[in-house]
Amino acid sequence: MRVSELSGLPAGVTEHFASEGIEELYPPQAEAVEAGVTDGESVVASVPTASGKTFIAELAMLSAIERGGTALYIVPLRALAGEKAREFEAFEEFGLSVGVTTGNYESEGDWLGSRDIIVATSEKVDSLVRNGADWVDDLSCVVSDEVHLVDDRHRGPTLEVTLAKLRQRVPDLQVVALSATVGNADELADWLDAALVDSTWRPIDLRTGVHYGSAAHFDDGSQRELPADSAGSQTAAVVEETLDEDGSTLVFVNSRRNAEAAARRLSENTRGHLTTEEREALADVADEIRDVSDTDTSSDLADAVERGAAFHHAGLARDHRTLVEEAFRDRLVKVVAATPTLAAGVNTPSRRVVVRDWRRYDGTAGGMQPLDVLEVHQMFGRAGRPGLDPYGEALLLAKNHDEMEELFDRYIYAEPEPVRSKLAAEPALRTHVLATIATGFATTRESLLEFLDSTLYASQTDDSDRLAEVTDDVLDYLVANDFVERHGDALSATSAGHLVSRLYIDPMSAAEIIHGLEAEEEPTALGLYHLVSRTPDMYELYLRSGDREEYTELAYEREEEFCGSMPSEFDDNAFEDWLSALKTAKLLEDWTEELDEDRLAEQYGVGPGDIRGKVETAEWLLGAAERLAGDLGLENAIEVRKARQRVEYGVREELLDLAGVRNVGRKRARRLYRAGIEDRTDLRDAEKSTVLGAVRGRRKTAESILENVGHPNPSMTDVDADDDAAADTE
Ligand code: ADP
Repeated sequence: MRVSELSGLPAGVTEHFASEGIEELYPPQAEAVEAGVTDGESVVASVPTASGKTFIAELAMLSAIERGGTALYIVPLRALAGEKAREFEAFEEFGLSVGVTTGNYESEGDWLGSRDIIVATSEKVDSLVRNGADWVDDLSCVVSDEVHLVDDRHRGPTLEVTLAKLRQRVPDLQVVALSATVGNADELADWLDAALVDSTWRPIDLRTGVHYGSAAHFDDGSQRELPADSAGSQTAAVVEETLDEDGSTLVFVNSRRNAEAAARRLSENTRGHLTTEEREALADVADEIRDVSDTDTSSDLADAVERGAAFHHAGLARDHRTLVEEAFRDRLVKVVAATPTLAAGVNTPSRRVVVRDWRRYDGTAGGMQPLDVLEVHQMFGRAGRPGLDPYGEALLLAKNHDEMEELFDRYIYAEPEPVRSKLAAEPALRTHVLATIATGFATTRESLLEFLDSTLYASQTDDSDRLAEVTDDVLDYLVANDFVERHGDALSATSAGHLVSRLYIDPMSAAEIIHGLEAEEEPTALGLYHLVSRTPDMYELYLRSGDREEYTELAYEREEEFCGSMPSEFDDNAFEDWLSALKTAKLLEDWTEELDEDRLAEQYGVGPGDIRGKVETAEWLLGAAERLAGDLGLENAIEVRKARQRVEYGVREELLDLAGVRNVGRKRARRLYRAGIEDRTDLRDAEKSTVLGAVRGRRKTAESILENVGHPNPSMTDVDADDDAAADTE
């Protein structure tokens, strides 16, 4: 089927697709069209990675909009929202508008109602629904990307409940669910009342196999001679062979540190294969990387990139990630060593894929655990660039013959696992039951169970008693903590319950915060950081060896400051959790004491991306704490606000006023302060030369700062920087 034969799309769109090289529909795309995806029919498309699922979604959304509706595209990762929105912005020339919404959970996002396509994470959609966004009722098409993630312990239940709620609110909603190939796509289709496109077709052949000894062994029984390199590295051997054929390799490893180490080692292979032009272009990319930040990670990455290799993991700054992805797509970087995050979503096809580590550390399960078949197949799916490579090739690495056989059985010949709902896990149910009651989706126990009956969980379980049982436990918890009231059969949320649901925090976090705030009239900043760090919504820092002693000592030293009482040292688990929260709180304290990000990263053994993550989570939870304190009429709301602002800006208290001015930030605020400018009034009255000196002579910056603070004449023309102000830097 040709794209030009499709009807019901906005004028000009088919030509646009043609210009992108999309003229003939791929077979799974044609199947989706036959199933009615352009006529408003719901479809579950279970198709291998990189086989054109996005295009199926685009057809659904564009035809829905052409019929006068609006579309919502749910992305699995925040980082992907921007990327997807940019892709869809290509349709703006045909009169469509695109809106992307991430970040702050509580906002209502009314402006989104005027957009044709909205891109959001499932958490964001869930929160918008909780906050009563009206535009939801006008949706006609919703796309759920990577819907197999309903299986994810942490994030799956939100996606599942969100889809169920959207379907309940909009009766004829078209649902297009895109999935990697999974074992039970038919169950997903049943759940969503959708037609099923279940295909293993790929635009480019994929050969999979295992490397062991001196050869690569393939799924079709063939072998290719490929001795390990002189140092015994199988990965390096594959990389070398691929470089000789002028191709690129993606190497999946199981930790950030391993990704960094592998990139360093493999850059010894790539460096000898670069042309002069490539070397020059890579030097430019490396400079851009160094410009992003002045950290060890940044400089390691730049060093590797200069030699044609790179690493990629979730601890990297976003700009670093983008630079690596682009350089790899431009075929400048020849090898990327990545953690599995890269396999999900980001479009970075490569001639060869090596899955070097097939086990990964899992704290909950204890020790090293094998990756899921689904994940490994997604990594495999990155092999082969249509139109560029003759075929894609994906290899696992085995150390001995037995391991080779195991890997063939476990990953090459195996079917991916079925997707299973994780909704019955308690934290998930706790959160979603409260939200369902607070938003009025359910007003009695019966209607609550009826709603839960429309979830994947219910469609997958034969034991409806079990769902009723856990639901009752959860209701008891919510009632005991004054989030829900029961009057006979009727259920309603209390004012605190409504607030907790809108704030988008786990009710257990809210209960912890409320108890902590009630216990301490004048909390210190550290006490508050600790309070939010010990809630289930904060992913705490690990205690490494030696940390236990250090933080036990600190805990006793600062015991007075904790909101609530410290558990006994003999209560092992609770005490350990307390210390992990303290380590997290200490990181936040150091951040607000204006320590440099590099030093923090080094001291706590984390990446700059992690510091950002902790800071953002703390800011969100402290914001929630501030609202809860206000709602409960607690006097300490002011302390909480200050603590939140300090985390937001990363400064000591005396800089709060200055750091809040746009374009100032923590470092500039400190320099201004040192130059005698202590608040906004000082800033307005200051000598321009002092301001200019404090921003190290950057005129544009100085002007915009003065403008933001309401200066009547911010112009810096003819002003000379006062060097004394710049001299005393960090
Ligand atoms: P998936 O979402 O399945 O991982 P994508 O939608 O990212 O895969 O598609 C992978 C690549 O294939 C994209 O670069 C896309 O432009 C291209 N593509 C999709 N459909 C077609 C088609 N019918 N003809 C040619 N190229 C296509």
